[in-house]
Amino acid sequence: MATTIATSAQEKDIAKVERIGAHSHIRGLGLDDALEPRTTSQGMVGQLQARKAAGVILEMIKEGKIAGRAVLMAGAPGTGKTAIAMGMAQSLGPDVPFTMLAASEIFSLEMSKTEALTQAFRRSIGVRIKEETELIEGEVVEIQIDRIAAGSTAKTGKLTLKTTEMETIYDLGSKMIEALNKEKVSAGDVITIDKASGRITRLGRSFARARDYDAMGPETKFVQCPEGELQKRKEVVHTVTLHEIDVINSRTQGFLALFSGDTGEIKPEVRDQINQKVSEWREEGKAEIVPGVLFIDEVHMLDIECFSYLNRALEDDLAPVVIMASNRGITRIRGTKYRSPHGIPVDLLDRALIIATSPYTYKEVAQILAIRCEEEDVDMTDEAKEVLTQIGLDTSLRYAIHMITAAHLVARKRRATAVDVQDIKRVYALFLDEKRSVTYLREFQQQYMFHEGIDHEPTVG
Ligand code: ATP
Repeated sequence: MATTIATSAQEKDIAKVERIGAHSHIRGLGLDDALEPRTTSQGMVGQLQARKAAGVILEMIKEGKIAGRAVLMAGAPGTGKTAIAMGMAQSLGPDVPFTMLAASEIFSLEMSKTEALTQAFRRSIGVRIKEETELIEGEVVEIQIDRIAAGSTAKTGKLTLKTTEMETIYDLGSKMIEALNKEKVSAGDVITIDKASGRITRLGRSFARARDYDAMGPETKFVQCPEGELQKRKEVVHTVTLHEIDVINSRTQGFLALFSGDTGEIKPEVRDQINQKVSEWREEGKAEIVPGVLFIDEVHMLDIECFSYLNRALEDDLAPVVIMASNRGITRIRGTKYRSPHGIPVDLLDRALIIATSPYTYKEVAQILAIRCEEEDVDMTDEAKEVLTQIGLDTSLRYAIHMITAAHLVARKRRATAVDVQDIKRVYALFLDEKRSVTYLREFQQQYMFHEGIDHEPTVG
């Protein structure tokens, strides 16, 4: 049962990539202890109602009270729906899974839509596994698997598992703990554990001798307990996601898929077995479920089959909190001829808590832009900031945010240390915002290939 998978290392890598990403300035929801939003805090500006509502949901998630609920964040483009979701993710505990998915990804993966959704659901459920083990004080119990080649090392407390194969960590871990508890290994013993039966065979006190058993192949495992006293039981806790357990136990994919992300489809039988095992562990008090969050951005891109899957999956025992975001008004539900608010079927809407985001004021846009300048290490004169804020209000917040980097480059070209109005003007002339781009197209549409004319307002976001 010792499944220790390097999930935290992976998360850190993602965080690094995100450092100057669109939401890298968001460090939380910016709420005080009473869940009241501070006007500007943790990179968050304004949007007080929505942040407060998100804070309440966050509290419920932390208390494990609202698994299987749906939350919808609805609002115009650039009103901070994704930013608020990121803020929630930052405020969740380190072992509460948070999965982010753009609805359109479902259609581009090499698997069925429902399989992609199932994987996303199971990525968002944590299993907190508790282990009781006997260890030697101050020492490391080392299990060597096969030839101890360079491989991954996972640490749980004072237990060091070395392996070339993640699957084997999983299998061996639980067997080793069981065997140690049952058979009372003495310090200095070198033992093998039969992989199939989990039985422990005492070999003697020479580690060198055990090494000979290397030749016995993958069925032979050995453990060396260094000198010292066996200690009282310790509890080691770690959290993995259901999806990780699925992948590790799926013979067709193998653990490497965890790193490549190329997991393919996982057989339903594997999932059934895992659900059963996890429920046994829960009954035995060895594991508990940590419902996490699945964030589905641009949810209107899902089609009716996906929505019906969501409806059913939310009723499952093992369901996370699903947070959806949409910037659409009343629009067609994909895969049908029916229209509904946000393109979401009313039965799903009916079970969702809806949080609305509203447009920003001049002051709020100014503050968000100032925070972004700081995040991107860009000095900007006050006049330039005013012009940029006005552009943000007239075009979109996102366009204005993008202009910061471009204007910084232009300023550097003329060897200025701070971005000034002239740099903003230059960038504004170089890059069209959405409105000007449409006007331009209307004017010059005859010169484009395949033009059909613009007979409706374009959709943004
Ligand atoms: P869309 O509907 O187009 O997906 P959205 O509502 O998800 O838009 P975001 O992507 O969250 O909008 O916001 C656009 C940019 O503005 C992001 O860089 C985001 O971090 C920033 N932003 C939005 N709202 C806030 C806020 N209240 N405080 C700080 N930054 C914000």
